[in-house]
Amino acid sequence: MCRSTQLLAIVIALLGQGKAGHWVGSELPSRIQEMHRAFGAGPAGQQCADCRHFQRYHSRNKSWAKCALTRQSGGAGTDWKAHWPVCGRFEMRERVERG
Ligand code: SF4
Repeated sequence: MCRSTQLLAIVIALLGQGKAGHWVGSELPSRIQEMHRAFGAGPAGQQCADCRHFQRYHSRNKSWAKCALTRQSGGAGTDWKAHWPVCGRFEMRERVERG
């Protein structure tokens, strides 16, 4: 492996180990980046879907999600994605046991 290829591999590896898990910060939408700036990054490997502040909504044949700790609107501009890396306000959602 040539030196430039090694350097590129190192940079890619370092970017992949950011505080936000496998995400590179600039790949994330600004609304989750703002949460990371305000509250820091949460535990590595956790996703917003597991946070108690992540709220899912359903209406007829449509579903969407929001973060309860951010500004919410009726539009998709404040929708939240389950797979986003958590912020410092992350609180593990209680699991409902099914029997
Ligand atoms: S971890 Fe929880 S509080 Fe933080 S952005 Fe995700 S859903 Fe919102």
